[in-house]
Amino acid sequence: AGGAGGAAKGQRVLIIGATGFIGQFIAEASLSGGRPTYLLVRSGSSNAKTIKSLQDKGAMIVYQGGMKDQESMEKILKENEIDVVISAVGGANILDQLTLVRAMKTVGTIKRFLPSEFGHDVDRADPVEPGLTMYNEKRRVRRLVEESGIPYTYICCNSIASWPYYDNTHPSEVHPPLDQFKIYGDGTVKAYFVAGSDIGKFTIKSIDDIRTLNKQVHFRPPCNYLNINELASLWEKKIGRILPRVTVTEDDLLAAAAENIIPQSIVASFTHDIFIRGCQVNFSIEGPDEVEVCELYPDESFKTVDDCFEDYVAKIDDKSIGVTANGIAAQNHVVEALPITAMCA
Ligand code: NDP
Repeated sequence: AGGAGGAAKGQRVLIIGATGFIGQFIAEASLSGGRPTYLLVRSGSSNAKTIKSLQDKGAMIVYQGGMKDQESMEKILKENEIDVVISAVGGANILDQLTLVRAMKTVGTIKRFLPSEFGHDVDRADPVEPGLTMYNEKRRVRRLVEESGIPYTYICCNSIASWPYYDNTHPSEVHPPLDQFKIYGDGTVKAYFVAGSDIGKFTIKSIDDIRTLNKQVHFRPPCNYLNINELASLWEKKIGRILPRVTVTEDDLLAAAAENIIPQSIVASFTHDIFIRGCQVNFSIEGPDEVEVCELYPDESFKTVDDCFEDYVAKIDDKSIGVTANGIAAQNHVVEALPITAMCA
């Protein structure tokens, strides 16, 4: 195992949060690599369709009330001889992981733990509230993991490839705008955009790589290093139309954050951190505890934002469902289609 990935395909992976937005990508990647993949599913989970589809691909389902029961977590880890635990619980449940960490410490056999991170380096980034509260929770989990001596990897994958709506926690579920672009600040601050499938793929590659042991893994694919003006132009090229660009100022984003509507205001505070302050790009990766994913896996390619935008266009064309009044699918809607064939002419 280890080295540039190593074998270790027999390592048994438990994924918590596999029915969620990020967790599904990780579960898919683990299963497609042929790893023994266990999913901790809450008995009340409403996402039966996802569970069934992952089960059909070979996932083993462990039903449980959640991960807040330390004793049952210990039992699950032991009975299934779990080697690697990946948590992708959502922002509202970050502190639930404290019990999980205590269970892993007691069991003492976990070779790697990946807590629910999947964004920025929370020790380095300093968003305004209410994003800061979430980061403080993620920092608390990190400190407990480190104190417990459980081997870990922190995945800092930056933004998911999509139009970065400032009020939507899952922006890639919605196609980019068709009426107007909202440009944050002057639109020149760069960020890194990573397809969900690549978040899954590189997360799974890192779990048995010795070079990612007790490290933060930063995702900086040069092909997807774009500012929001460039993203807008890319989308215009795809739909064959020029859309108006409206400025959303720093003050507008701070006001949206200050409204403290959860989770939208959390997204507004991260949007401010990314596109006004440049939190993804204002540092270099050179600390002893951090590595960059393209340097680790130079032969692996990333899906481009161009390709991701192509997928949106294909979905829009294919399904031909209506547009909402302002031409943008409502927040949290799955990419659903729009009759843009005509509009793209
Ligand atoms: P979701 O809210 O979509 O999914 C959360 C998952 O966690 C669900 O599967 C849920 O199960 C499960 N879960 C929650 N609490 C528990 C518990 N106590 N025990 C067991 N399972 C539990 O999460 P996201 O995908 O939005 O977020 C995951 C991580 O990714 C977060 O750290 C978030 O900050 C980050 N993120 C990063 C993004 C980026 O662009 N880089 C975008 C979005 C998120 P159930 O089905 O039972 O509800």
